[in-house]
Amino acid sequence: TPITSDVETLSKEVQKFAELKQQQIRSLTLREGYRREFLGNISHELKTPLFTVQGYLLTLADGAINDKKISQKYLERANKGVDRLIEIVRDLDLISKLESADLDLNKQSFNIIELIQNVFDLLEMKAKKRNISLFFDKHYEYPIMVIGDIKRIEQVLTNLLVNSIKYGKINGVTLVSVEHFKKDKIIVKITDNGEGIKKEHRARLFERFYRVDQSRSREQGGSGLGLSIVKHIIEAHNEQIFVKSKFKKGSEFSFTLEKLEKI
Ligand code: ADP
Repeated sequence: TPITSDVETLSKEVQKFAELKQQQIRSLTLREGYRREFLGNISHELKTPLFTVQGYLLTLADGAINDKKISQKYLERANKGVDRLIEIVRDLDLISKLESADLDLNKQSFNIIELIQNVFDLLEMKAKKRNISLFFDKHYEYPIMVIGDIKRIEQVLTNLLVNSIKYGKINGVTLVSVEHFKKDKIIVKITDNGEGIKKEHRARLFERFYRVDQSRSREQGGSGLGLSIVKHIIEAHNEQIFVKSKFKKGSEFSFTLEKLEKI
């Protein structure tokens, strides 16, 4: 009869509506959870260097300041803590910019080989400290022209190379190669022979603040935001990022870029 069918339709509609609302509430709770976790992570990240700085300053104020040698040492350490705070705040700033609705990319054509060489030069000292050699896997005597935001791609290369140095084997090697990828792309691969990453961690590596080994990574410096910054930049370019790794053997991070045809 028409009335029962009306009631049935109505109750179905109500049920659908209730389900939709429930779904919205679930996703809001989830987002609220992420937000809270994010804030918790930030304060946790900031606390360690802040307490370090405070500790040294208090000891100085307590009298250590009268010993020239000791005060010099403590001031240097406090300054290191401040450097670390600046690094974290800078990365947070960058990530909030990258996550805001539209990231303005300043695309242009540039020689990726030259850019890699520049980043090598900037990181040479850092690599030397762990006795890691940075290599191109072959000689590129010709330019390889790509299209992208050169400043952002420099950031990607820097973050990936810094990681290969931090988590690479002492006396090890970081190898960079540039290869053709599909019809109109190139792929840049950064390979190290360091500690590698177990499979169960790989999917979460690009999350903000995710670290395989919290204390070890923090010891190495860095904000825990490096890879999520990399992912944001590559995705803003509509490109892809890949990771391959063998635990205790090494890792390979790679990303694609658009190639400028006919150079
Ligand atoms: P972090 O500041 O901790 O280095 P990242 O976002 O750059 O933050 O990296 C996240 C985590 O991924 C690191 O803490 C480390 O555990 C792991 N990781 C990144 N790169 C490598 C690598 N080349 N080899 C091994 N582990 C790596």
